[in-house]
Amino acid sequence: MTRTIKTEKIVNKIINVGNRIMNTYVYHTPSGYIMIDTGYEHSLPAVEKKLKKRRINICDIKYVFLTHAHDDHAGFLNELLYKNQELKVIVSKEAISTLKRGQNSFDGGCSTLLALIFCRLMGLFGKAEHRFPPIEDKFNDRFITINDENKKSLEDLLQGKILFTPGHTKDSISLKKDNIIFCGDVAMNGFPSVKRLIIWIENTKQYEQSWEILLSENADIIYPAHGKPFNKKDLEKYKNAISKIRLRALKNILTHRSTNNEQKLTRNRNKHTPCN
Ligand SMILES: [Zn+2]
Repeated sequence: MTRTIKTEKIVNKIINVGNRIMNTYVYHTPSGYIMIDTGYEHSLPAVEKKLKKRRINICDIKYVFLTHAHDDHAGFLNELLYKNQELKVIVSKEAISTLKRGQNSFDGGCSTLLALIFCRLMGLFGKAEHRFPPIEDKFNDRFITINDENKKSLEDLLQGKILFTPGHTKDSISLKKDNIIFCGDVAMNGFPSVKRLIIWIENTKQYEQSWEILLSENADIIYPAHGKPFNKKDLEKYKNAISKIRLRALKNILTHRSTNNEQKLTRNRNKHTPCN
């Protein structure tokens, strides 16, 4: 009896193995563990350690649901594909070109003046280029892009409903599971965000529509990638702020695959041995 209760607890649990900056959620399904996003490039060892504390091996993760291809979400994805050789990644087809490039898009701009100041400050700490190790071609068949044909079976596997929620980026997707929604960067809760708005927006109109999509879902709690979970009603409260946003562009420093990134790949490859 005790064992059944324990198992049920684990089944319904959402675990956060991220850090103060980035949430990395993990939950269990009959198909194995699902991870929502990864984290910054160097955070794999810390994530692995947190999983271990929960008696979960990194190779127990069967799928990553990637909410979008940004450096803080796909940072150690290539490394993880090395380490966990059975892992598959569920993404929007719009994410692939960014994942191959290994650098965020600079389309759009900062949503507030505070966000702009924050982005410029990140530049001072060498984070202005928003690069991450690009996904190697050898991993192409480990990516499942969502389409009309496979959406239903992916939802069965994820035990949730996939929502297309662009605006922050063109490839942004969310996942509704029971009464919660993992929204990636469709909303944010904490500095330097105000009114649950994300600090970077590519397309304000799409972003506004994506909030409506979240609002139309029968869910209570939003699990953002940044900050603590919050009540979905907050989106209703703050949604009018979106139409007032004027995007403040940053200098476009987009480059193609760089030598620097290639070196990083080699470094990461040598650091880990596959666990399965
Ligand atoms: Zn993002």
